[in-house]
Amino acid sequence: MSEVVSEKPVVYVSKCLGFDACRYNGITLPNAKVDMLKEFVEFRPVCPEVEIGLGVPRQPIRLVLVGDEKRLHQPASQRDLTAEMTSYINNLCAGIDIVDGFILKDRSPSCGIKDVKLYTEAGMPCSGSESGFFGGAILERFPDVPAETEGRLSNFKVREHFLIRMFTQTRFRILKKRCVMSELVDFHAKNKFLIQSYNESMLRKMGRVVANHDKKSVADVFDVYNRLLCSALSKAPRYTSNINVLMHALGFVSKNLLPREKAYFLDSLERYRAGRIPLSVPVGVIKAHLVRYEVTYMLDQTFFEPYPEALVEITDSGKGRAIRR
Ligand code: SF4
Repeated sequence: MSEVVSEKPVVYVSKCLGFDACRYNGITLPNAKVDMLKEFVEFRPVCPEVEIGLGVPRQPIRLVLVGDEKRLHQPASQRDLTAEMTSYINNLCAGIDIVDGFILKDRSPSCGIKDVKLYTEAGMPCSGSESGFFGGAILERFPDVPAETEGRLSNFKVREHFLIRMFTQTRFRILKKRCVMSELVDFHAKNKFLIQSYNESMLRKMGRVVANHDKKSVADVFDVYNRLLCSALSKAPRYTSNINVLMHALGFVSKNLLPREKAYFLDSLERYRAGRIPLSVPVGVIKAHLVRYEVTYMLDQTFFEPYPEALVEITDSGKGRAIRR
């Protein structure tokens, strides 16, 4: 097991997403969102189907329902690959010492997370969808680690939530390794508004953990805080929570603003509330005022830059809401 603590998020990714031509038909699928991340994360590409020896090119495989059990079949060869795949995945998961995120190929019977077609033994499609073997295993074994398919990441809201969770949990992983109480206090202070935007009641619980009135050991405090942080970030924030945080931020500069500056900011909040502009617009407006009046406490808040700014890209697939609310 490596003792080196990666400073970048460690992300396991389906190898066919631009890393190797390992698809069943011998092609690769470059993905703009994965490419964009290359500079900022440490990718660990894996291809379960090649790893169990299926080769490239290969006959397609599929999920088949046998009785109540989901199995992995290759119809052309009539092979049942369930045992090989399960054994490979068990070994792979057991060897994962650090992981901050998963980006997996959607609809794949191996990598797919929830959207894989299931067939009857006679080859007819079943209703609904399932997890692929690898995708299902990582959901079960790494429930606190953000996991998405490349298809879902083309949605701005999904992508932003994924990036916030991943970069915040990575910062905490690095801190946890050092296990210094004063650094945890600082982390909590700087992430206060971000966590508040996700889950205000959890923020209060986390504050009590950091205060440590029970005199727990520092390692225990980090463990409890870790669990609460993962839980707090598990669901994307509601747009009303973001508005509350921005109104709070306004309070730090309000007395300095001209009526028309304040009105402009409040109008941008209303347009955000109505779903007409992304969160980044009112955030940009209030941030400019915080810079001008040197409100360092607020500018240090990760809420204003929860992940590298170079990754902010508001293009959207058009599936689901177009912007973060
Ligand atoms: S989806 Fe997964 S198993 Fe299939 S080619 Fe891509 S990496 Fe390999």
